[in-house]
Amino acid sequence: PISLVWLRRDLRLHDNAALYYALKSGRPVLPIFVYDRLILDQLEDRDDRRVEFIHREIQQLQAQLHQMGSTIIARYGRPIDVLKQVVEEFAVADVYTNYDYEVYAKERDAVVKAMLAERGIGFHTFKDQAIFDRDEVLTGGGKPYTVFTPYSRNWIGKLNDFYVKSYPTETYFANFVKTSALGDHDFTIPTLEEMNFRPKGESYPVPTVDDDLLQNYEEMRNIPAQPGTSELGIHLRFGTISIRDLVRQAQATSERFLTELAWRDFYFQILDHFPHVEKHAFRREYENIPFLNRAEDIERWQNGETGYPIVDAGMRQLNETGWMHNRVRLVVASFCVKHLLIDWRIGEAYFARKLRDYDLAANNGNWQWIAGTGNDAAPYFRVFNPAEQARKFDPKGIYIRRWVPEFDSLRYPQPIVDHPMARQRAIDTYKKALNR
Ligand code: FAD
Repeated sequence: PISLVWLRRDLRLHDNAALYYALKSGRPVLPIFVYDRLILDQLEDRDDRRVEFIHREIQQLQAQLHQMGSTIIARYGRPIDVLKQVVEEFAVADVYTNYDYEVYAKERDAVVKAMLAERGIGFHTFKDQAIFDRDEVLTGGGKPYTVFTPYSRNWIGKLNDFYVKSYPTETYFANFVKTSALGDHDFTIPTLEEMNFRPKGESYPVPTVDDDLLQNYEEMRNIPAQPGTSELGIHLRFGTISIRDLVRQAQATSERFLTELAWRDFYFQILDHFPHVEKHAFRREYENIPFLNRAEDIERWQNGETGYPIVDAGMRQLNETGWMHNRVRLVVASFCVKHLLIDWRIGEAYFARKLRDYDLAANNGNWQWIAGTGNDAAPYFRVFNPAEQARKFDPKGIYIRRWVPEFDSLRYPQPIVDHPMARQRAIDTYKKALNR
């Protein structure tokens, strides 16, 4: 019998916890990837960047495995159906996989685990995408943290070699199953077209970051006109870089960057412990804010036509590249929720559709932070002034001009709302809803 390693958001052979334990167990190991049609069929854009990225990565894994005389099995369908089919096709003793903190993923895994148990097949999960998860970083009272600063202090304090060393998968690469031993099966990777997608043909950031960039990160990270951040988001999302390798690099170069990686773990554990945040305000009293959700406002915000140059620049960068600078994400999200009184969930969903580094935990956590509905959130009366943000972080208008070249011409729209009016309206709306 063989072991399957079910890859999901850990698309690499290097330093992969589940893969390591599977290989080490001694049985021949066959990696499997499922193009989950429950997720893929729902995506709005048929040229979705993430799907193309995954597709390329799976092809690369296939090429790497071919060189070792092995293969990956990649199929399109519902995970439960595909796994059922695969364990009927092959003699499988165990399935190894890395733990996922999303509600959908946890439910999916529970169903798969039960199906496997009925057949006497083991299902083993491992921590891989986070440095600390579940109950590894708790308050003095043994509770999950809901405030970031003490969490991050504790997170950084607990870091030691044990948590950041790589799993030496390479030592056991000889244990990948030999394709020749498997007989006749279908190992072709479904094409994008077969899954009803078409390629965008874009290139993606490289899965590495220079020490130089990290050494200057603290100083450069807030300047959207400069390439001062790592742009590793998409690689962290799909596991095409190892978080442990990255944390070790950060320990040697930039405490500030390390703290950003702690934010990532923070939101994973929030989602894991408080799954209601996926659809609801973390703080229930914020559930009933009477958002306006005007269709025209939503459309102008999405298209980058609000008449606020920094907001429009950000939204156009997002639409054209699938990425937006963090400083600008803060500004456009605040503008969406506060200035236009659009429900944070609508903004969140648009980011989910467009961001190449989209991650449910981080996206939800950051939107709730901005909306003031989250755990450790900005107080609701704090409303970013977009013009001031632009003056401070893009003083020469370089970023704005790059994305909104017509911003100082007559063609450029008048501001969609007046800032002082919108600010007061947001504060009044929140205050009234909270005092009810
Ligand atoms: P860097 O500055 O180089 O940071 C390195 C990594 O640290 C990031 O790739 C990310 O994994 C992590 N990180 C940094 N900041 C945060 C943060 N505030 N919260 C959680 N993790 C962080 N990040 C996502 O990964 N996915 C999202 O869907 C997402 N949505 C966001 C929505 C809003 C409204 C805001 C304000 C922020 C969001 N972020 C999200 C956080 C942050 O903006 C991005 O991680 C960052 O801009 C990605 O670019 P980078 O890889 O160059 O980041």
